[in-house]
Amino acid sequence: MENKSKIWLSSPHMGGGEQKFVQETFDTNWVAPLGPNVTGFETDLEQYLKGDSHVAALSSGTAAIHLGLILLGVNPGDEVICQSFTFSASANPIRYLGAIPVFVDSEPETWNICPEKLEEAIVDRIAKGKKPKAIIAVHLYGMPFKADEIVAVAEKYDIPLLEDSAEALGSTYKGRNCGTFGEIAALSFNGNKIITTSGGGALVAKSKKVKEKTIFLATQARDQAAHYQHSEIGYNYRLSNICAGVGRGQMEVLDKHVGLRREMHDFYSTYFKNIEGVFVFSEPDGNYFSNHWLSAILLDPEKAAGKTREGLRLALEAENIESRPLWKPMHLQPVFAEFPYYGGSVAAQLFENGLCLPSGSNLGTEERTRIEKVLDRFFK
Ligand SMILES: *Cc1c(COP(=O)(O)O)cnc(C)c1O
Repeated sequence: MENKSKIWLSSPHMGGGEQKFVQETFDTNWVAPLGPNVTGFETDLEQYLKGDSHVAALSSGTAAIHLGLILLGVNPGDEVICQSFTFSASANPIRYLGAIPVFVDSEPETWNICPEKLEEAIVDRIAKGKKPKAIIAVHLYGMPFKADEIVAVAEKYDIPLLEDSAEALGSTYKGRNCGTFGEIAALSFNGNKIITTSGGGALVAKSKKVKEKTIFLATQARDQAAHYQHSEIGYNYRLSNICAGVGRGQMEVLDKHVGLRREMHDFYSTYFKNIEGVFVFSEPDGNYFSNHWLSAILLDPEKAAGKTREGLRLALEAENIESRPLWKPMHLQPVFAEFPYYGGSVAAQLFENGLCLPSGSNLGTEERTRIEKVLDRFFK
């Protein structure tokens, strides 16, 4: 019998040190959304990211984006520019606030927000009488966006950048860590991300003051008083001390796991080298260092003898191997259909022809052999 256990796209990969930190929470009764692991995890992340980062650990990456928009002063009716080619969690918090998303297309090199289209959108929104309040740019699949160009546009129009780095912990651009380019950045530690706390996230701020304000908002916005007094609307968004313990263990193996994800990417690059019609998503040049959270390919049916990404997805599924089409752009989502969009069909084309392949840092020779077998049969 062939081994048919499921091969996931990206599954949790424990390093071994996590349980020690979790055990401590029980031993010391810090079973709460605060405690030594929360503080320790924040310090670990600050030391990892460098560049004067101030980190507030939160219950999710989505919560980080939500609080980030609040900190940037986004109010109901305001417009916020958002990369269209992304996961819905980048855009949903705009709507939590009753603000208006303005979606922008990608460029073909990094698949992230296109600097020219971004500027075009800003100029047009200003001409229409409303200057966008913030720009959400995403390092999708761990690939850094064109940071020099995007930051320059943001600065030129004096619009703050909210960096969605949920998929990009461990990635760098010109040697600088993703998560340090925006006025505010969001990280995610969901189960499928590069490291996990089972569920969690963080907001990266540029000052201690903004970090403290984040923690204030994330813990119900209590004024300094023995009684419960509130002058602002608060949220319950802090990370659990148990989950933060998992995070501390994961930080010990982050760089190692980035290396293993990059090995998976190398595996696909080598495999597809001689296969007509398949492009493996890779760094445009040496300025970019991707954690390759997910390895992705584009399959051009015209060059690949009519083979499609859906055909490959089904062939893998038949062998209990998970793969997934690239993110469906937000401007094509029914829930966001009514909102403005700037750009052409770059993101739409990526969605049409793209597929994410199993990418976990825990995939070994056995899994690769199974994947290779399906690919051999499919492309023969
Ligand atoms: C996962 C993800 C988020 C949200 O993070 P959660 O921790 O799952 O809330 C936001 N943006 C992108 C691009 C993501 O991949």
